[in-house]
Amino acid sequence: GNRRFEGKVVIITGASTGLGPVMAKMMAQEGARLVLAARRLELVEQAAAAIGPDAVAVRADVTSEEDVAAMVDAAMTRWGQVDIMMNNAAVPGTDKFIWEQTVDNFLDTYKVDCMAAMLCTREVLNRSMMERRTGSIVNFSSSAGWDGMVRKSHYSAAKGALRILTKTIAREVGEYGIRCNCVVPGAIGTDLMINYMKRVAEEQGKSVEEIEASIVAPLPLKTFSTPEDVARMALFLASDEARTVTGQSINVDAGLVMS
Ligand code: NAD
Repeated sequence: GNRRFEGKVVIITGASTGLGPVMAKMMAQEGARLVLAARRLELVEQAAAAIGPDAVAVRADVTSEEDVAAMVDAAMTRWGQVDIMMNNAAVPGTDKFIWEQTVDNFLDTYKVDCMAAMLCTREVLNRSMMERRTGSIVNFSSSAGWDGMVRKSHYSAAKGALRILTKTIAREVGEYGIRCNCVVPGAIGTDLMINYMKRVAEEQGKSVEEIEASIVAPLPLKTFSTPEDVARMALFLASDEARTVTGQSINVDAGLVMS
């Protein structure tokens, strides 16, 4: 098969659940050496153990400058370089209409869903990519950050800002041979989405199946994406196959958003 990540060192944040471990496994299969980061070390150690000696686990809260510095240190100590930064960690925040919104909910969400991508990107640029004049950064936005989403002003605003951060990074680092792109998933059938649907179902006195049907109905392709569907786009953007693709945000959402 393909070996697009042979010789590459990859950091994935939020690597313990959902999309993170799926991308880790797929990248390892194509030759990547990995640093898997998450807040709960036990969980990310399991993800790393499932891959074997090509993956190391680190505990990192991506909103902490010290933790992010230590995460990149771990990559430099173990592998000596960083080629690819996958800014995957995110929180959904607490559902609130704008008239109920709180500063804490808004800023806590912003810190993980936008600022952390700046921090992780800054560290890998300064520690490895700028000097080596190569690198690829992939951010993870959301359809909510494209068209807005009811009761998710905190998440939507942060994910929208992340797309503009992507473009700005791409403009600044291009001349150093570094690319930055963004994947924009719609609904993926991960815990994040399942928990959300359970909550909405409970509130509306409906079944999870009914809520799922209402999400799928407006989609041209009438389906959720799988983590693998989203991972394939993220891996393409991360890889040299996308050599001349930078500053782009690409929707992987069964046609929900057409840009
Ligand atoms: P997930 O919740 O399973 O994974 C995100 C991970 O980030 C979790 O393991 C979480 O613990 C971790 N995380 C949160 N805060 C952190 C912090 N401060 N430091 C370190 N790690 C932290 O979600 P997922 O479905 O795998 O989502 C992956 C990406 O795709 C996210 O960026 C998400 O916003 C985006 N996305 C998902 C969906 C969906 O339907 N699931 C839709 C649109 C976008």
